[in-house]
Amino acid sequence: MNHEADFPYPIARLYRQYHSYDLVIDSRLVGDPEKVLFFALPGQRRDGHEFIPALIRLGVRHFVAQRQQFFRHREAIARAVGAIRQSPPTVNLVDDPAATLRQLAALHRRQFDLPLIAITGSNGKTIVKNWLAELLATRYKVCSSPRSYNSLLGVPLSVWQLRDHHEIGVFEVGISRPGDMEQLRHILLPTHGILTNIGTAHLGNFSSQAELEREKLSLFREVDWLILPGRGELPHRAADIVEQGKVIPWQGEGGADMVVGNEALNVRFPDLPAVYLENARSAAAAAHLLGIDTPTINGIAGGFVPLTNRLEQRQGRDGGPVINDSYSNDYGALAAAISFAETLDPFDSLTLILGTVQDMPDLDIKLNSLLRDRIKRLLLVGTANRRIFSDFPGAVFYEDLTSLVEAIGELDFSGQTVLVKGASYEGLDQVATMLSRQLHRTTLKIDLTALRHNYRTYRGKLPDHCRVVVMAKASAYGSGALPVARTLEDLGADYLAVAYPEEGRELRLGGIKLPIMVLNAEAYSFPLLVQYDLEPVVHRAEQLRWANNLNLRVHIELDTGMGRLGFQPEEFHDLYAADKGMAAAAVASIFTHLAASEDPLHDSFTRQQLATFDRLYESYLEGGGAPVQRHALNSNGISRFPEAAYDMVRLGIGLYGLGDDSLRMHLQPALSLTTTVTALCDRPAGQTIGYGRRGHIEDDRRIAVISIGYADGLPRLAGEGRFAVRINQLLAPTIGSICMDMCTVDVTDIPGVTVGSEVEIFSPDHPIELLARAAQTIPYEILTNIGSRVHRIYVGE
Ligand SMILES: *Cc1c(COP(=O)(O)O)cnc(C)c1O
Repeated sequence: MNHEADFPYPIARLYRQYHSYDLVIDSRLVGDPEKVLFFALPGQRRDGHEFIPALIRLGVRHFVAQRQQFFRHREAIARAVGAIRQSPPTVNLVDDPAATLRQLAALHRRQFDLPLIAITGSNGKTIVKNWLAELLATRYKVCSSPRSYNSLLGVPLSVWQLRDHHEIGVFEVGISRPGDMEQLRHILLPTHGILTNIGTAHLGNFSSQAELEREKLSLFREVDWLILPGRGELPHRAADIVEQGKVIPWQGEGGADMVVGNEALNVRFPDLPAVYLENARSAAAAAHLLGIDTPTINGIAGGFVPLTNRLEQRQGRDGGPVINDSYSNDYGALAAAISFAETLDPFDSLTLILGTVQDMPDLDIKLNSLLRDRIKRLLLVGTANRRIFSDFPGAVFYEDLTSLVEAIGELDFSGQTVLVKGASYEGLDQVATMLSRQLHRTTLKIDLTALRHNYRTYRGKLPDHCRVVVMAKASAYGSGALPVARTLEDLGADYLAVAYPEEGRELRLGGIKLPIMVLNAEAYSFPLLVQYDLEPVVHRAEQLRWANNLNLRVHIELDTGMGRLGFQPEEFHDLYAADKGMAAAAVASIFTHLAASEDPLHDSFTRQQLATFDRLYESYLEGGGAPVQRHALNSNGISRFPEAAYDMVRLGIGLYGLGDDSLRMHLQPALSLTTTVTALCDRPAGQTIGYGRRGHIEDDRRIAVISIGYADGLPRLAGEGRFAVRINQLLAPTIGSICMDMCTVDVTDIPGVTVGSEVEIFSPDHPIELLARAAQTIPYEILTNIGSRVHRIYVGE
């Protein structure tokens, strides 16, 4: 069977020519350039066609490009062709390279007659996929999607990995808009399915829960069986789409045993949080139906560990950054992690601690070309790596994790950026932890994936021409200016804004290239602005004169009702009418700030502010002023008054998922503040707890001491029971006063708390507003008061 006839001519021809090539859409993932077919895809920020010249110089010989875009870049491409001493590369011009990629993958899929399991659902897809692949590998040669490749681009790239020796495929599928699923089903043609769950969050582009659910289930229209959790109505609704007899619900709770369809299974799982137990059951049910026996399932499942997020960055013990990526370790994930680590490497000296890489054809050759010039120091861990050890002069080999852990105290990594990369089951996380500066301290975790999602959500509310200024003041709302700024630069933000010149300097020293406006710059700091290419906001006439003398680009702030900084209407009139320098100035923008954009009670005031802004600008134009860019909206302004976007907006708190209610459902909380339990004690009735004896024990209580105090940013107002932290998914109210470095909480009613248990102060599951309300303040103040000794960890690429 080859099905070529079902595909239009260019696809069948391309397939014949390229079926053994690597398909690549990210220029950083090129392995052996001669065996690469590069797809130039139009991106949000970087157009894939921009990379063609560099790739030609690298030796890539085959491209799929979009006709018009290709012609737009043809001169740079011709120069690159002129510079190489080979015949010109082959460029296949098409109307839609992404569609071509999908069709090639679909045709490739049809070359294989094997069971193919598709996994979708709101959460847990990647975990179920990884676990199921591990279970099936005990009996079959498995092809599974790399990392979390589950999108309209990820699925084709995953399917392309299928090769003749494979016996079974396991692929995850994610959708973001209506219609995606049909395209993905056409590519995958799954023979079996797993639905992990359907959550209520992140409806995104879907109008209702029911629509989202129907779309997800449509993936399974023609499968032989579909496994799903046997709760509620879901199995019945699934039967509307998948034939009744083919829907196989599983049941079970806790750490052992389950029922799959009507069959009891004596499985045992390790001690995992409840959500992971669900994922483990989905994987075990599928493995069972695919012929894996229960003892084997139990043997493998015993090693299931919860997967932390990918790519954690920490400050290292020896000074440089330590990056930990222990999600899955296939070639693509490794290449991506190296590229990522390079962007964070201030020393140009990358050390790699490498565990076992998932096997694939030509792995050794590929590793060789990937690591050779980019890794300065290589530590190989695990017997599987003995094979490649001799390929890398200077590499050090450790038989297993234990031998590395024993040696690690003696090793010195100063002046190096360390990337720790292994598969989750290898436990290399432990090495990353040992190499971090702070071990078990209070941590603010910043989820960069959520940040990206939120940025795009706001971006989606705005017209295309509108530019986005991201507010990076106060250390990016406490989350760390530089990593956040880098993420935003990468995402295509147009501008950054900081409050003070020093904050701008920090960003420049960290290599940020975006234009940066400084909201509050005094005259004495202007030379600093020149030195670091920063653009002041001016709100007094003399500031404008100084800026003109130094040729600085400026932003003019108008006060339309905020009553803080900004020219009053009549002052502004004087500024351009009685030439006080405005005509000569390099004015980058004129803006105003809304005082109550989030509050419907003040909407008429807000509209008045916007009308004043319009009126002032019109009279400025009538007075002969040159047109300039305008902006007025902060985060809640964007969600509530998108019609007043003008040319730019200024996004702040919303980036962290803390927008007003109108957008809240579509945002993802990006920040979690956590700490650990340091001591536990049973206290009898009558005792008191803490300073001033303010904690009263009425009846016997179990009290936990946790490692966070007001010096870390937990306000004293949160003490004495006005706030509860979250431990093991339950609430533990504070008791007694918050101290400087620690506080006490009541855990009497929470089973399973031990020294070392994780404590959530706020997180996606424990909203920061609870703490803000208890402390009689707003989330902004909570965030910006988080102490500097709190360890910031960035997760997500
Ligand atoms: C901080 C700030 C913003 C961003 O406000 P959010 O409410 O965090 O979105 C916008 N404009 C100015 C002038 C600011 O100072």
